[in-house]
Amino acid sequence: MSQQGYVATPPYSQAQPGLGGYQGGFGSAPAQPHYGHYGGAPQAFAAPPTAVLKPPASSGPGLPPHPGSGPYNPNSQQNGAHMQRYPPATYGQPPQPSYNSMASPAPPPPVQLTNQMGAMNLGNYGPVQSVPSATSPVAQQPFRGPPPPATAQPPMQPQMAPAQPPMQHQMAPPTSMSMGRPFPGPPPPAAPGGFHQPGLGPAGPPGYPQQAGPFTGGHMAGPQPGGFPGGLGPQAGPPQKKLDLDSIPGTTQVIEDDQARHGGQVYSTNIRGQVPPLVTTNFTVQDQGHASPRFIRCTTYSLPCTAELAKQCQVPLACIVKPFARLPNNETPLYLVNHGESGPIRCNRCKAYMCPYMQFIDGGRRYQCAFCSCINEVPVFYFQHLDHMGRRVDFYERAELSLGSYEMVATLDYCKNNKPPKPPAYIFMIDVSYNNIKSGLVRLICDELKTLLDKLPREDGAESSAIQVGFATYNKTLHFYNVKSSLSQPQMMVVSDMTEMYVPLPDGFLVNFQESRALVCNLLSQIPDMFTDTNESETVFAPIIQAGVEAFKEADCSGKLFVFHSSMPTAEAPGKLKNRDDKKLVNTDKEKTLFQPLKGTYEQLSKDCVAQGCCVDLFLFPNQYVDVATMADVPSHTGGSVFKYNNFQVDTDGEHFLRDLRKEVQKSIGFDAVMRVRTSTGFRATDFFGAIHMNNTTDVEMAAVDCDKVVTVEFKHDDALSEETGAFIQCALLYTTVGGQRRLRILNIGLNCSTHLSELYKSCETDALINFFAKSAYRAILNQPLKNVRDILVNQTAHMLACYRKNCASASVASQLILPDAMKVFPVYMNSLMKTAPLTGSTELATDERAHQRLAVMAMAVEDTQLLLYPRLIPLHNMDVGSEVSPIPVRCSEERLADGGVFLLENGQALFLWLGQASPPDVIQGLFNVPSLAHLQAHMCVLPELDNPLSKKVRSIINDLLEKRPRSMKLHIVKQKDKPEMMFRQFLVEDKGLHGGTSYLDFLCHVHREIRQLLT
Ligand SMILES: [Zn+2]
Repeated sequence: MSQQGYVATPPYSQAQPGLGGYQGGFGSAPAQPHYGHYGGAPQAFAAPPTAVLKPPASSGPGLPPHPGSGPYNPNSQQNGAHMQRYPPATYGQPPQPSYNSMASPAPPPPVQLTNQMGAMNLGNYGPVQSVPSATSPVAQQPFRGPPPPATAQPPMQPQMAPAQPPMQHQMAPPTSMSMGRPFPGPPPPAAPGGFHQPGLGPAGPPGYPQQAGPFTGGHMAGPQPGGFPGGLGPQAGPPQKKLDLDSIPGTTQVIEDDQARHGGQVYSTNIRGQVPPLVTTNFTVQDQGHASPRFIRCTTYSLPCTAELAKQCQVPLACIVKPFARLPNNETPLYLVNHGESGPIRCNRCKAYMCPYMQFIDGGRRYQCAFCSCINEVPVFYFQHLDHMGRRVDFYERAELSLGSYEMVATLDYCKNNKPPKPPAYIFMIDVSYNNIKSGLVRLICDELKTLLDKLPREDGAESSAIQVGFATYNKTLHFYNVKSSLSQPQMMVVSDMTEMYVPLPDGFLVNFQESRALVCNLLSQIPDMFTDTNESETVFAPIIQAGVEAFKEADCSGKLFVFHSSMPTAEAPGKLKNRDDKKLVNTDKEKTLFQPLKGTYEQLSKDCVAQGCCVDLFLFPNQYVDVATMADVPSHTGGSVFKYNNFQVDTDGEHFLRDLRKEVQKSIGFDAVMRVRTSTGFRATDFFGAIHMNNTTDVEMAAVDCDKVVTVEFKHDDALSEETGAFIQCALLYTTVGGQRRLRILNIGLNCSTHLSELYKSCETDALINFFAKSAYRAILNQPLKNVRDILVNQTAHMLACYRKNCASASVASQLILPDAMKVFPVYMNSLMKTAPLTGSTELATDERAHQRLAVMAMAVEDTQLLLYPRLIPLHNMDVGSEVSPIPVRCSEERLADGGVFLLENGQALFLWLGQASPPDVIQGLFNVPSLAHLQAHMCVLPELDNPLSKKVRSIINDLLEKRPRSMKLHIVKQKDKPEMMFRQFLVEDKGLHGGTSYLDFLCHVHREIRQLLT
């Protein structure tokens, strides 16, 4: 795409440094240190990305404004919910939101901060991870596993701050502390540590464990010999009691609290820097000038004013953009703005699009750009008078002046070769080698497509879909089918030369399904039989993707390939693969090669795909290792998805696969997309994560982007930000609709800026933070040993919290673990992240599984990483079957299970029904129609449809989940203490990891110790 170039209009024809060269190769971080967003000097952006290339064509005089397709009705913004007046002057010069003051004293001034933090060695992070060993034992010792003998184990008193209301969580009463060895493994032989004797901390309520450690301020400064008064030895003391989970911050509680606060309410986006409700909360969004949190979420909504402050706190500054987010029915769809022949109105200098933050001056004749401050003339046709507040009188009539999100009609300047695009096409490529025929998969796919093709996405209001369809099958050779409606029978054309791929059908390969329905259905009925006696087990892979690209090229359109593939492509052809799985590499410096795709053929293929707007969806049905890292390389750079069904069997996996296929074919999607993120002066986008391709440092190219895909964008300072003006971000996505229209989707958001770090911490969003961390860590493992990456995660967690502790929290209780309220469950997510398969160096985990999960996360939305890292564990045995609402999830810990319980667990990828050994017989009877657990079949993956309230309720809960999530999940029914239960247990993320990794509690203790070290 970029080579062909969008003519003239700047953002997408921006100078492209090193054009043609793939910088750093796919997957690797662009020209930046591979990991560590801090310390590494942000370079590579010498020139501001605002060079004036060419002003947009000036408008014809007197052209009447085009309100868009459909009159823009300001009243409909109200969503029929709370009628809210626009606060005056919200846009342009948004007022500072009034925050409740923090419970803690005002942070020290920056200079003092600098000195303090300098003394903490906080500024010393190198690009890789070079925490001075003196301050960070993490760098020297593996985090997982038993710690070395510690000289002082800090006690832990998590205390939420700010206290509003004061939430003080304390660990279990001192007597139970005898249990509380912070780390598993043998206790330190002689050195004291751990939890100390009962007593009062300086400010702790009665019963708080006493504090040890080098903290000043308390009366127990310095390591205390003779700790573990209760006897830390495993057998010492009275019968040991487990620490109460409720004493440490819990995700389920945080979710419930937010739901109680915001659930069912209208969230108006009229305040700059406002922190939205959590992703897990049900709320209705009313766009009043800032993009809905469904489209953009940020790691913090209050940026630190200076790079220095950002570096001190080490909180990543990032936003997560989901341009095609689904909107609930009660929210207004995006308005379409049409500025006529001259195209969208944009700033002459930085090319930002007209938006609510532009300031009209000079009686409305000119406006000042909020992003680059350039003064622009208002085109004559766009002129409008200002009211007494300096706001245009047509403010409410124009979406681009009053809303955070809207669409704009793109003119020919925004189209490839200055031609309007053609509607996209979907090509189905089915591997008909022995495995897929034998398993019945080919027949399953063909049968499904006959009905599914009626549900292709269509333009709003269109009667039928404009998407064309094409079909090919392949094993070692490739078979195209001509299904032109004028034929009486489908025709098959075979291509066996895989080196020079071409499409032998200039006409008749891509057709309209409605017109060619008879032929297509005929073909789909014939395909399974045509290959029924095949012995061919070898396949090709890269050539079929190449064929898809050629077909799109031939048809001059963009589109998507649906590839259904079973085995490693070993046939002699470009992109041939061989087994390079090697478990011996696990936990070595070479482990990263297991995640790295092979370069060469696939790298070039991705480039070709993106240039043509060809997105690749890969459905894999492997029986063994297939090198997912390489096979999934093209999908993960073209906005595609990879689905994997191991040892596929139609009866157990068929429905699961079809659910994915249906979602994937029907979902809303845009093609041939380029996204550009503009920012107001002082900071800029420096790094991007997603199923994307970058040919230069600014244009995010996506062959396609669907409703579940996100782009995570990291920002860095290049100057100071102003508290008064705040910071603005505008994401502009140029794309082709499913109907073949070229459009711009504009998403604007304003953030606060502050010189006080307390504002930043108060405005953090843990779910967005963890989304960023997951992606940066998963990219880092392409280039670094896992251990380094995990160490960095731990260190950064400690640094972020230490900085808060140092600067924003009350100084009176020095050795308590104090967490920012907005980040109080951050550690549980971080610990869970480190226990995920890609970050776990265990030979028990399949390389392909790890590679698959790594890639899946790279384009995941905030709600999906949240769920992945903290699954929902839903008790079913004691729910009210008559109630409309689902039971409230409990914490993901074995401690919450009960022998007599039945639980559902899901994380968006896996779904389990867990049956306790002593499950009530009536529950088992109700769900399975058998008298007891012993009568239950093994490996069940579906609940029988029984006509009783319990069965109906449970099935409806499961169906709701399957409906809501982007992907299907296969249901696993497991009995307590049965072998398959192990699979289930790995999702109890608060417990110790099955393949390594500590429990949440241990992690919290460890982080606390790190923090204390940093603060001494
Ligand atoms: Zn500008």
